[in-house]
Amino acid sequence: MTALQPPTKSPMTSARRLVIKIGSALLVDDETGAVHHSWLDALCDDVAEAHAAGQEVIIVTSGAIAVGRGPLGMKGHKLRLEEKQAAAATGQMRLAHAYQESLARHKIAVAQVLITLDDTENRRRYLNARNTLDTLLKLRAVPVINENDSVATAEIRFGDNDRLAARVSQMISADTLVLLSDIDGLYTADPRTVSNAEFIPQVDEITPKIESMAGFASDHGSGGMVTKLMAAKICMDAGCRMAIAPGKLNHPLTQLVNSGRCTWFLPAAGPRAARKRWIAGSLQTLGALVVDNGAFIALNSGKSLLPAGIVDVSGDFERGDAVEVRTKDGEVIGKGLSAYAAADISTIKGQKSEKMEELLGFRGRSEVIHRDDLFMRS
Ligand code: GLU
Repeated sequence: MTALQPPTKSPMTSARRLVIKIGSALLVDDETGAVHHSWLDALCDDVAEAHAAGQEVIIVTSGAIAVGRGPLGMKGHKLRLEEKQAAAATGQMRLAHAYQESLARHKIAVAQVLITLDDTENRRRYLNARNTLDTLLKLRAVPVINENDSVATAEIRFGDNDRLAARVSQMISADTLVLLSDIDGLYTADPRTVSNAEFIPQVDEITPKIESMAGFASDHGSGGMVTKLMAAKICMDAGCRMAIAPGKLNHPLTQLVNSGRCTWFLPAAGPRAARKRWIAGSLQTLGALVVDNGAFIALNSGKSLLPAGIVDVSGDFERGDAVEVRTKDGEVIGKGLSAYAAADISTIKGQKSEKMEELLGFRGRSEVIHRDDLFMRS
């Protein structure tokens, strides 16, 4: 915690890839289980405005269980895990439909993506999910994401969409995540019970002191302040700034831009640098690609690695694994995530990208290591 003033210009306006997380308490009526359509329409108006301004918007939404319990006649009692999973199956359809209808007013295509914890931890599934979301964003769709509650078992559930939203932000190298909540930010203590609790507008580092402030939970949903701080940690490590912002009133994003009222967690570096640091630092390499001189020069000037520049491959690795990049003299010049398995690279090495489909029998990425997935030693 450093500055006590909020940033002068809202990070919202400079966001390029913006993830918005919506909690159940904002979207669904506690009593009736109905979607708050007027609130959702106002939110989608804000989303459409950001979309029209060229920002990429991803929505992570809760509410499937809250919406789905009514139609299955499960009201008024605490649900068991399997009942929650059944409710989510019913509710998710209704939830997706509500977003589709609301964004269709702005002629925005919506795409539902349901994610499990495994999808964000298993490297291959991670790459697939990342590519799908990248493609949807390129096509100017708004992905609407929730946890795949109906199939995830207790041990492998996120359970709360705060962390899911942070993992998604990390996975797609988002620069900004906004957790819309029934609380307006982080306080030194619970503001509902401690009258002199102080509001904290900006956090630059999550210290034990900051963590100790999260010992209370917000009323609804599964995510209290503790899971929000866990989400903030994931985001700060991934170079993504995160806000805990008030969402109760209509047009919460416009309000956030105008009033600035929220707590921002601001990392020192951006997502690109953080991703490269992650590749450089925490991944074990399972093989190596030897590149020719032309590729070496191209990689040093920030290009991706194409099959044409690869002269040799060693090791036993799968798509998504980390590999070393070496010159013909054996010098290690970089490290990256391979978009192809070792066996496939043996087939396509030295070949033009256009021939890859014919040689492999399927159409994959045209790069073997995309420049975003490559860390070059300087
Ligand atoms: N995935 C759950 C749902 O859609 C919500 C989890 C949460 O409350 O954060 O109902």
